[in-house]
Amino acid sequence: MPHVHDLVGIGFGPSNIALAIALEEKRHASRPLDALFIEKQLSFAWHPHMLLDHAHMQISFLKDLATLRNPTSRFTFVNYLHQKGRLTAFANLKSFFPSRHEFNDYLSWAAEQFEDACAYGEEVVEVLPHDAGGEVTLLRVRSRNHAGKLIERLTRNLVVGIGGTANIPDGFRTLRNDPRVFHSSSYLQNMAKHAEARRVAVVGAGQSAAEIFMDLQGRPGAPQVDLITRARSIRPADDSPFVNEIFNAEFTDYTFSRSEAERAALLDEFWHTNYAVADLELIQQIYKAFYQQRVTGGNRLRFLRQHDIRNVVADAQGVHLTLWDQNVQREHTVRYDAVVLATGYARDQHKALLAPLAGYLGDYTVDRQYRLQATPDFHPAIYLQGACEDSHGLSDTLLSVTSVRTGEIGSALLATAAGAAPHPRREAEAIQT
Ligand SMILES: Cc1cc2nc3c(=O)[nH]c(=O)nc-3n(C[C@H](O)[C@H](O)[C@H](O)COP(=O)(O)OP(=O)(O)OC[C@H]3O[C@@H](n4cnc5c(N)ncnc54)[C@H](O)[C@@H]3O)c2cc1C
Repeated sequence: MPHVHDLVGIGFGPSNIALAIALEEKRHASRPLDALFIEKQLSFAWHPHMLLDHAHMQISFLKDLATLRNPTSRFTFVNYLHQKGRLTAFANLKSFFPSRHEFNDYLSWAAEQFEDACAYGEEVVEVLPHDAGGEVTLLRVRSRNHAGKLIERLTRNLVVGIGGTANIPDGFRTLRNDPRVFHSSSYLQNMAKHAEARRVAVVGAGQSAAEIFMDLQGRPGAPQVDLITRARSIRPADDSPFVNEIFNAEFTDYTFSRSEAERAALLDEFWHTNYAVADLELIQQIYKAFYQQRVTGGNRLRFLRQHDIRNVVADAQGVHLTLWDQNVQREHTVRYDAVVLATGYARDQHKALLAPLAGYLGDYTVDRQYRLQATPDFHPAIYLQGACEDSHGLSDTLLSVTSVRTGEIGSALLATAAGAAPHPRREAEAIQT
């Protein structure tokens, strides 16, 4: 009889690690769930190609994997520091914002404690219904490992926590296979292959674009760097306290209870807390770099603001971007050895993975507990993490509410498991058909 998991989680990033922690800490309340997470990377790493030396967190360490849900958890950032012997030294830093390297180490430390609950090196490629007498009782989760082997597992419930996928602007789509054009999500890996590049374009006006610009301009033998933005300036992320309240866990209830139009208006009003903005400190560093260039002379760094990319052509000499300067209403073409697209992330990949279930899931609406609504003949519970910004608010793609959200999903899962007590015979029969 094939094994049936209570839960399969797709992805083992912060969202699903936090869920593993929440489930572990709810064990006393009910029978433990048989949960397995599937992660395509060979081992845990948090946005590994953006682990830049000077980058730090954009969020307080108190919004770690556990604290806001359970400050007494052994998985808090504070306990991690204690275990590593750095608690007092960290306190001396007087900062709420650890370096990205340190937070990656914290997340790896947490992930390591669930080594047995995660299958690394497997990419989930699709999820299919398992039909039993006209009702869908189980899901078939198909993944491919690094050797190309297809693996199928059965589960009663599913949590999709796959993060975002690189957003590639239309004009660059035809160059997907050109190694000279790459997204910020693979920046360090691909830049290492272009160490000889003399002229690099960075496209975008957000935190990643700003970080990459600073990284490139400071490299030994630094190339010429053009920062290309449609906007007139790089705007600072507003993280002042009253505005920051939109990232409070309670605000999720408020957002979810509003009408669709009100939610859209909220997203619009607070869009610049997270998108197309950068840390003020980083903006000041960039300004300083340009000022320094004015002192010493030269034109190695350029801020091509109010520039639209009108055309992209690649040939043996390089990647040629035709730029429209909105300010002077003029077009010109520049040749680059490498183009970095810091153009954000799309959050709809779950629809591709769940496509074989589309007939049961309608328009992919979720309830307050992040569970996808389904037709009455579809019984598995499917939860989404990080893909519910429209319904749950701007905090959804960030770490802000991760610990609280996973507490809610964990409780919903345990309630589902308790209510739908397993029917081993019915399921075993179903599997054999
Ligand atoms: C460079 C960068 C810095 C950031 N810094 C901050 C910050 O300081 N503060 C903040 O609040 N937010 C930050 N964010 C936002 C970020 O979304 C969250 O920090 C966090 O990573 C979300 O966790 P997640 O688990 O939902 O998604 P992810 O961290 O993206 O993890 C998803 C995981 O799923 C895996 N996966 C994807 N598809 C599959 C598949 N088909 N099969 C198997 N595995 C799969 C991926 O390999 C990955 O490990 C940052 C984002 C970026 C890109």
